[in-house]
Amino acid sequence: MGQIGRDPVFAERGEGCELIDADGNRYIDWVGSWGPLILGHANPAVVAAVVEAAARGTSYGAATAAEVELAEEVAARVPSVEMVRMTSSGTEAAMSAARLARAVTGREVVVKFAGAYHGHSDGLLAGAGSGLATLGIPASPGVTAAQAAGTVVVPWNDREAVSRALEGHAVAALLAEPLPANMGVVPPADGFLQFLRQATRDAGALLVFDEVITGFRLARGGAQQLYGVEPDLTVLGKVLGGGLPAAAFGGRRELIERIAPAGDVYQAGTLSGNPLAMAAGLATLRQLDAPAYERLGALTGRLAAGLAELAAGRPLQLASAPGLLTLFFSGEPVGDFAAAAACDLDAHARFCRAMLDRGVYPPPSQFEAWFVSLAHDEEAIDRTLDAAAESLLEALR
Ligand SMILES: *Cc1c(COP(=O)(O)O)cnc(C)c1O
Repeated sequence: MGQIGRDPVFAERGEGCELIDADGNRYIDWVGSWGPLILGHANPAVVAAVVEAAARGTSYGAATAAEVELAEEVAARVPSVEMVRMTSSGTEAAMSAARLARAVTGREVVVKFAGAYHGHSDGLLAGAGSGLATLGIPASPGVTAAQAAGTVVVPWNDREAVSRALEGHAVAALLAEPLPANMGVVPPADGFLQFLRQATRDAGALLVFDEVITGFRLARGGAQQLYGVEPDLTVLGKVLGGGLPAAAFGGRRELIERIAPAGDVYQAGTLSGNPLAMAAGLATLRQLDAPAYERLGALTGRLAAGLAELAAGRPLQLASAPGLLTLFFSGEPVGDFAAAAACDLDAHARFCRAMLDRGVYPPPSQFEAWFVSLAHDEEAIDRTLDAAAESLLEALR
């Protein structure tokens, strides 16, 4: 919140699509805990599942039926994921997927995109979006030169740069958010994901889709279903845990079987597959049926259409995908991180402050997406659009 020149919101509780702060102010919440809350705050079925699981014990350090059920639910939704390993955070899952790719290929270099975020493991912090972009930290102190050297960063939507990276290095994996949402929402150019699939295959590198945000949000099977491109490995999180700490990585059986104890690539976590998180994840995914995705798409469409109307003729760009959107404060189309970084961040900050003054809580960073949930409704969207109409007058003066 410092980035928009305002004191932080201190959350007291959440109700559906609303966040109530410690002073009792109510906000329509478009942050949604940065992605997990696709059903909104305190969804009754999720809360009941967590309470019921907690009463039976909060952690065992042994496998449970719920862990297996959630793994089966993931595999049913994401066909490229035949086998899955649970972790407690997306950071761990992305880090472990990169380790697995190195082990499988016998190569060391990982290629990632500028402005993409794959959690905060040392090797993947280079050129990261999300909080680093928000705070203007291009490379975090404390990351060793050796770790940074193992990561090659290329611009999103730039085929030539990808080809050069794959030719110039012994690449274990190309790691991509198939629809980046940590530099704001910046969809892939037509055919770009298909190009990544072919180019990695030709180079003998694994294609890893980080679907921590897009998984179970863009569609039942995530971005890979929406765009029809199958990666070798998939990283999941956020919606997967329904607001509790759960994440995962998965892929073809022969790849995941390399993970210990079945294989020799070490990975572990005291609270991985935690029963409360598994219960919350299952209770969440079970509500995400075809009508739910239709509704999420319609709600996003209504908000996006309203914002696009406000943006017309102004130095604003609207990018949206089912369940996600970004209003960029730029007169130019935004197709990569350099374009996102060139936005008028001061105008964006004024907009956020004006929205908060009107009881609407947009993500307080130009580099984070708005997260639409099934707890939002037409009334919340229309109130948001009314607030946005007034806030834009303050922001763009
Ligand atoms: C949030 C996020 C992560 C990191 O997940 P954590 O659970 O916060 O560690 C990784 N990749 C993407 C795309 C994310 O949005």
